[in-house]
Amino acid sequence: MADYRGRLILSNFRIVDAEMDRYGSILVEGGRIKTIFAEDAGSALDRASREADLIINGRTISGSPVLMPALVDLHAHFRDGQEALSETLESASLAAAAGGYGTVVCMANTKPAIDTLEAARTLKARSDALGLIDLYPVMSLTKGMEGRELSELNALPDSRYTPRMLSEDGRDVAQDALFLTAMEEARRLGVPVSCHCDAGGPEAEAAKQRGFDRGIWSRIEENNATGRALRLGRRAGCSLHIAHISTKEAAEFVRIEKAQFAAQIAAQTAAQTARPPHLLTAEATPHHLALTEEDACRLGAESHGRVNPPLRTEEDRLAIIAAILDGTIDAIATDHAPHTQAAKEGGAPGFSGLETAFSVCFTELVRKGRIGLSALSRLMSAAPAGILGLGDRGRVAPGLRADFLIAELDSSRMACPASFKSRGKNSPFAGRELWGAILMTIHRGRVVFDRRLSS
Ligand SMILES: [Zn+2]
Repeated sequence: MADYRGRLILSNFRIVDAEMDRYGSILVEGGRIKTIFAEDAGSALDRASREADLIINGRTISGSPVLMPALVDLHAHFRDGQEALSETLESASLAAAAGGYGTVVCMANTKPAIDTLEAARTLKARSDALGLIDLYPVMSLTKGMEGRELSELNALPDSRYTPRMLSEDGRDVAQDALFLTAMEEARRLGVPVSCHCDAGGPEAEAAKQRGFDRGIWSRIEENNATGRALRLGRRAGCSLHIAHISTKEAAEFVRIEKAQFAAQIAAQTAAQTARPPHLLTAEATPHHLALTEEDACRLGAESHGRVNPPLRTEEDRLAIIAAILDGTIDAIATDHAPHTQAAKEGGAPGFSGLETAFSVCFTELVRKGRIGLSALSRLMSAAPAGILGLGDRGRVAPGLRADFLIAELDSSRMACPASFKSRGKNSPFAGRELWGAILMTIHRGRVVFDRRLSS
């Protein structure tokens, strides 16, 4: 998709990103931020406004609008081609735009799985033609995500498209040796491996066989799989990203590993640090930081409240928030998983998350005084952009891409999945009062979502 060639002025906004919180105006040219004007810019802003093709004036928007960098999602399932009546590339992209997202990483479990360069390139080209978001398909680690043979990782990098992340999604790779080889390929490419850490393991299998309930064996699964991913990642020396942390133990494993890694870096000689960096990063989802197993029971633990990993205890939820506060968890990702009503009733795991992520996090973290809006912007924009190596977005600064969201902060509304752009109406937040609605999303200088025009 081409950048919008015209000139756009965004005037009189509170502008917030990971490092900034101030009033001002922005001139966008050729899809990029050209100038940021201070609140009292006066004649310079007047001159720029006279030459603008479009002016969006914050003063004409009710509800104390704030302008922030568009969000970056490290983890979504678009299910393109996967399920009748469910999500399509178009509906998921509309949902992302309506949720304030400008960049989305989608997992490889589309149908067919994204296990070849050709499949990743084709999906990316289809998304670019829609022009609503920037989509970065991951490539799976093994062919068909079957855990037997490496996918086309040895054909990478490729000048036409190299994934910014690799992942086997919910399965990881059962064989240690193959998982390690895939991680070594990732190190060669300098691309992080996203580990979903819900693969089984003998201990979890035994708990399953003995009839323990899901909350118990899935906790063993997540904790063991996280430990294993950290061990293998350390051996391979690749960048590792731990997806949707949900237990207090897994958060603690990552905290300890990060501390050890920082100590190692500090002890390295200059020659050793010349080696490409091995980074450890982690994400949490809005639902794990806002909901617990009690919500799952209310919704139906094996139907509308089911998600992988499951909603956990209040103690876990608070541990996830503490891990966000101390930097153990770097980013918030949706794990958007749309399903039909019938599939949910049949126990399909996952929630449709793109359109509530910002307001859930704003309500739970910022309104409750746990973090400021700049910290939320770091978690949802700057940090995930950094993990993907996308230095041209995630902040508001001259030269960066004009990807923005405009949200209203001082009024609330009930979450209403019926009005989602996503075909997955499976939201655990239905009927909950949420603050921080997305009013508008701008992608590469072009308005791609406007709530006032949207029904
Ligand atoms: Zn997932």
